[in-house]
Amino acid sequence: MRTSDIALLIDEPACANNANKAKGGCMRPKPGATAGGCPFDGAQITLFPIADVAHIVHGPIACTGDSWDNRGTRTSGPAFHRLGMTTDLSEQDIVMGRNEKKLFHAIRQAIDTYSPAAVFVYATCVTAMIGEDLPALCKDAAARWGVPVIPVDAAGFYGSKKLGDRIAGQTMFDHVIGTREPDPVPESVQRPGITVHDVAMIAEYNIRGEFWHVAPLFDELGLRIVGSLSGDARFREVQTMHRAKASMVVCSNALLNVARQLKETWGVPYFEGSFYGVTDTSNALREFARLLGDADLIARTEALIAREEARASAQLAPWRERLAGKRALLYTGGVKSWSIISALRDLGMEVVATGVRKSTEDDKERIRDLLGEDAHMIEDGNPAGLLKVYNEKGADVLIAGGRNLYTAMKARIPFLDVNQEREYAYAGYAGMLEMARQLALTIESPVWPAVRKPAPWAGRIAGEALGAAR
Ligand code: SF4
Repeated sequence: MRTSDIALLIDEPACANNANKAKGGCMRPKPGATAGGCPFDGAQITLFPIADVAHIVHGPIACTGDSWDNRGTRTSGPAFHRLGMTTDLSEQDIVMGRNEKKLFHAIRQAIDTYSPAAVFVYATCVTAMIGEDLPALCKDAAARWGVPVIPVDAAGFYGSKKLGDRIAGQTMFDHVIGTREPDPVPESVQRPGITVHDVAMIAEYNIRGEFWHVAPLFDELGLRIVGSLSGDARFREVQTMHRAKASMVVCSNALLNVARQLKETWGVPYFEGSFYGVTDTSNALREFARLLGDADLIARTEALIAREEARASAQLAPWRERLAGKRALLYTGGVKSWSIISALRDLGMEVVATGVRKSTEDDKERIRDLLGEDAHMIEDGNPAGLLKVYNEKGADVLIAGGRNLYTAMKARIPFLDVNQEREYAYAGYAGMLEMARQLALTIESPVWPAVRKPAPWAGRIAGEALGAAR
């Protein structure tokens, strides 16, 4: 990828963080940027959930192991994303110039064995550094086997993980979106008097199947998801995203470039929202109805929201009693720094501080809206600093990502994982109930008082030691 193309992707006009030039914009590559995940990592996380595509990592096998399947994304059909496909390049292959031959062999093997809808080939540092012309190779392979072969050129040294997300989105926009028209609405979906509207989801990854909490509401309202980037997605659906009448950017500004270009090129309006919490789920449904401008849909959406909120309120009542007034320290990435706050407030909990290391200025503004101007925002989430804030603020639970799990274990404090490696689905009204249940279970677990007490044998050993000394 040319430096000028990378600069264009970094300079995303729809990104509020980037617009803040006073703070240097966003995502300028810095030394060590790949320590939190490289662009290849970001690209595969963004595209792997397209489940009927063969995803071939063109490089050393270690790149494949970098973050394979760490997202816990779920599919309702094919699951090719769960296969680790790689050209497994070695030093010998590079020295002897066998890289292209191995790539063609891998593409043919993937097509012959799995008949995928398409093949995505991911460049890595090694293949980019030797100057391989990946687009030309993919074009040749597509012509030879009659299957779309898409180059994803997000090599590790280009910059940050977020840049990889953006390159992946741009690749879809340049090579996939707009290459097919949607199927007609099936008769089984049509209902008398209801107009079916086509919509698209962007940056929704169906982690632990959480979008399946929300999808039935879309069906009920007559919203057909023509394409998703990329939770439970199929290649042929992504091809038709340009025909959506509205799109939602879910909890991530990394793919704003796709939303913006869909709007500029195909006239698809978009909004940014979240499905975490009762309030945000209702607002997301409302936003779709507003953008689609259908008076009947707006009325039906309000009726559905009233029904779902009443049901959620009744189901959450016993959990609210247990969680009301509990204090949470939140340390998670980007937009979750505010979307989870909204969910916790729905439960009557208090957020004593939130991490903003990966948040944009827009995210921080939303945090201030929710927590007030004096909101405690943590820029650096080193374990000692996190625990200091936890103790000073008298928090009851640490809500963070998997890498903070052992910080919590060692400090013997309640912990809930809300990042991509989490065990439970938290989106939508039903997801809110699950989050409440998991929070109550961890905060009230008898394991915490037990592990904080001195060990039963500690007194005996101390006594014996004292006796021996005398
Ligand atoms: S692409 Fe580069 S930075 Fe990323 S995992 Fe592979 S070698 Fe490491």
